[in-house]
Amino acid sequence: VVVIGILALQGAFVEHQDSLERLNLSRPIEIVLVRTLEDLDRCDALIIPGGESTTIALLAKLSGLLEPLRRFVSQKPVWGTCAGAILLADSVTNTKRGGQEVLGGMSITIARNGWGSQLESFEGDITVSGLKDPEVPFKGVFIRAPVVVELKPKSDDPPIQVIASLSPELLPPALQSPDHSGEPKTCVALRQGLHLLTTFHPELTNDHRFHEYFVRECVFPTIS
Ligand code: GLN
Repeated sequence: VVVIGILALQGAFVEHQDSLERLNLSRPIEIVLVRTLEDLDRCDALIIPGGESTTIALLAKLSGLLEPLRRFVSQKPVWGTCAGAILLADSVTNTKRGGQEVLGGMSITIARNGWGSQLESFEGDITVSGLKDPEVPFKGVFIRAPVVVELKPKSDDPPIQVIASLSPELLPPALQSPDHSGEPKTCVALRQGLHLLTTFHPELTNDHRFHEYFVRECVFPTIS
């Protein structure tokens, strides 16, 4: 059985567990809430939930998980949502005083709370490639979400695929200013190698297609 961990130090890990449990998959999976090194060592793949990225990083450090998580990310499939997306980025701007520890793994720069104070949270339909029923839009729930500000793959990195964009015309009116309409600010889901990043929260909806996508595209192919 394929073991999928969910980092359970802080944030929306229960919601990810609930979404994974509702999937109809071609192979059985076991779900592990990861709080210790022993938990992590059992996992074939990991989801890092939304929440508060500085807190998650601090708790990971206190639990002795920071370096093991970095090693895990360099070897196995990982999906980061919102705060988890911040932790998966190679570099972060707009950090709190004292900076932000990251795990890295995706060659991007991301801005914490990047939509600014104009509008902290909003919902918008996004167009996604690769999900089941692609004609059905996916509702992106953005909560103090980060913004991808630069894609910067090095020559030997796996290519970065933009798999979901927020259409400028679908942005809430307060965000329809020119500086919020161009690439890469509108890319809200990325894939690079084994890794998936979403700046929104698929686990807070009843639509589990992103969870199915992660398991089908990033996890199952790596396990024989
Ligand atoms: N703004 C939060 C952070 O910086 C992320 C918010 C979220 O995960 N919903 O960690």
